[in-house]
Amino acid sequence: MIEKESTKFDRQREEMVKRQIETRGITDQRVLAAMRKVPRHLFVSEALRDQAYGDFPLPIGDQQTISQPYIVAEMTQALQLSENDRVLEIGTGSGYQAAILAEIVYRVYTIERIHSLLIKARRIFDHLRYHNIITRFGDGTVGWLEESPFDAIIVTAGAPRIPDSLIDQLAENGRMVVPVGDQHSQELVKTLKNQDGIHRSNLGGCRFVKLVGEKGWSDR
Ligand code: SAM
Repeated sequence: MIEKESTKFDRQREEMVKRQIETRGITDQRVLAAMRKVPRHLFVSEALRDQAYGDFPLPIGDQQTISQPYIVAEMTQALQLSENDRVLEIGTGSGYQAAILAEIVYRVYTIERIHSLLIKARRIFDHLRYHNIITRFGDGTVGWLEESPFDAIIVTAGAPRIPDSLIDQLAENGRMVVPVGDQHSQELVKTLKNQDGIHRSNLGGCRFVKLVGEKGWSDR
């Protein structure tokens, strides 16, 4: 008997969580539940659907990528999210990371600088009824001042430095993850902002497409 498409993808998604996410040490139950639920295959083109649950990033057009499932889980876990949090994402891309966040938190604000990608992502958010995802077209390095401060900020493109504006828009006890480095490789840097100041930790190597932006850079 030919397996139904949806059943096939459900099975592949479960395998993905077991083999790529749990075995590599992701333990946050909310992150695992979101990864089990969000239909990743709908965030890639039809031609790539059969590869959607593989252990790698995939092209989404305009020389951009949907990130590897594990890095999505790792960054999401590092944000230490709670259900009332408001989160800012820079680099909507396919919309997959925003959907994972939307399963866990109260509201997600996501900014993308390539209009065609944002339109596609918005369409999927509407289709899947993610009414708690607010989108904006533009340069995310300047953040989203009117909606700040945010409990968490995630940058899903490699930046040479952490933009000043994003640190300013982080709430007290806010968490931020940013891949920092050049276009070949980056380190995933976690920033915690509390009343004692700004605290940094390095979560290890990663590789993202470049964050493009003229404003908002800093050496902090
Ligand atoms: N989070 C995405 C997902 O789940 O598919 C993956 C993002 S992809 C690795 C990086 C995205 O960042 C690209 O779509 C790119 O256009 C976007 N980007 C790069 N620089 C940006 C900027 N300054 N402001 C907003 N988006 C930016």
